[in-house]
Amino acid sequence: MQRFLLLCVTFAFTGPALQAQPLLVGFGESNVTPDPAKKDVWLAGFGKGRKATKIHDPLMARAVVLAHDKQKIAIVSVDVVGLFHDVAVSVRKQLPGFTYVLVSSTHNHEGPDTMGLWGENLFASGIDPDYMKALEAGIVKAIQDADKGKKEVTAVIGAANAPDLLHDGREPYVKHDELVVLRFQNSRKITTGIVVQWNCHPETLSSKNTEISADYVGYTVEHLKKKHDCPVVYLTGTVGGLMTSLRVEVKDDQGKALADGTFEKTERYGQLVGKLADKALAAAKPVKLTPFEVRTKSFFMPIDNAFYVLGFNLGVLKRDGYLWKGDPLKADPVGPKPDPKARMAIKSEVGWIKLGDLEIAAIPGEIYPELVLSKVQDPPDKGADYPDAAIEPGIYAQMKSKHRMIVGLANDEIGYIIPKRQWDAKAPFCYGRKKAQYGEENSLGPETAPILCEMFRSVAERK
Ligand SMILES: [Zn+2]
Repeated sequence: MQRFLLLCVTFAFTGPALQAQPLLVGFGESNVTPDPAKKDVWLAGFGKGRKATKIHDPLMARAVVLAHDKQKIAIVSVDVVGLFHDVAVSVRKQLPGFTYVLVSSTHNHEGPDTMGLWGENLFASGIDPDYMKALEAGIVKAIQDADKGKKEVTAVIGAANAPDLLHDGREPYVKHDELVVLRFQNSRKITTGIVVQWNCHPETLSSKNTEISADYVGYTVEHLKKKHDCPVVYLTGTVGGLMTSLRVEVKDDQGKALADGTFEKTERYGQLVGKLADKALAAAKPVKLTPFEVRTKSFFMPIDNAFYVLGFNLGVLKRDGYLWKGDPLKADPVGPKPDPKARMAIKSEVGWIKLGDLEIAAIPGEIYPELVLSKVQDPPDKGADYPDAAIEPGIYAQMKSKHRMIVGLANDEIGYIIPKRQWDAKAPFCYGRKKAQYGEENSLGPETAPILCEMFRSVAERK
């Protein structure tokens, strides 16, 4: 009897450790399309004053929840231009019991203004607060549904490169052209869901379109959903410096080139990205996604962009402001009467997520491929504003696991993250150009990349 008891105790003690806990994964989605027939919808991403005329295809919040042992992680992606950090904070508050929630956007340029920068005119925000509430509720619901639908699965991972599917709109020409895809399957080998990550601006419909659309992302998801008969989450990765579908040559079945700004090209491009995912899946290998480990860091960055400061002062850009004191880890909130000459700062967050043999970088904006792939120009161009700036620690160089993935616009959208020694706002301009290349006007400033990359290094290295 005594011996039997002892045996039972030993079993209870070592049982869970010996018997690996399963990976549980679920998917959920919410339709978050605003209705332009009920209220004005200002489309984001290009110029101001672009009013939506109708809905072409739905905007979605798509979520995946992964659980193992006592940990639970949610990743959600929304078909909008970008969401500030306060949205992620608010969503997290409504989801107790999660180890980590990552709220990202696809950076869609054919959906509503969710940042305040694209209203009717310079002085008007394009944000509808009621829509933002509904959007947030949709995000929470998608995650809750994904959580409820969790099932025991195994996973395979694949990757494929396609430089021809990207146009790089800014010198130096460095593309992040790797697509990463995860497929989950149950014990009968039936696919239960797909997560696909690609690095491109969803802006194929361009600046004249007035119909609400998820751009090519909707077509990529549709392609994969149909082919694999399962839910799909699309994640946007590296989109700075400047990864775009515009000017990418896409042909129809007859070999005719399709024009930017058309639904024909947008649909075709989306399908091509879907087919790239199929190619990656055809060669996919089993991957262990447990155990989980997550590290995040909140930090501050100065705002040196006069246009953003103006946006703050006009009340068009609504997010918490801080006073920059030279320390990324310490800043005081802006008081009721701030000194107009004070250097302002914003608070953001980087994340490092390890799911077994897969590491994920959660980067809060549009990072340049140079910074992800350790390809910052060296030596710098003679025209660079800060030729002596140190090269930032590369994002992927910090990630030592077998598999890597990046989620851009993760838990924030701070704009472009430009290598400091490629910052080029003042004449003489780089590469002998007569004027500055596009980019700096949509960045917080030259200190953004050095601070952010250092913060990521510190979480990846556990500092
Ligand atoms: Zn962008």
